[in-house]
Amino acid sequence: MAVVYQCNHCGNVIGQLDQQVIDTSTLGFNELSNQDRKEMIEYQVNGDIKIKTICEDCQESLENNPHYHELDNFIQ
Ligand SMILES: [Zn+2]
Repeated sequence: MAVVYQCNHCGNVIGQLDQQVIDTSTLGFNELSNQDRKEMIEYQVNGDIKIKTICEDCQESLENNPHYHELDNFIQ
């Protein structure tokens, strides 16, 4: 069982957390709105949890090119 942080834009895996038991409250999920939770967190069939986030590269690209905020998957 793992928590995988993956960039929502380029698909890079940023980090992975392997745990026997995942206590979602330690991940700060309870600070997110239900809407955010639905958009950011994906439960995989194998029990893993995928967190959609943004990597440093994409963050930088977004800051340099603010209009890309409109586009999903702008890096192919
Ligand atoms: Zn990225």
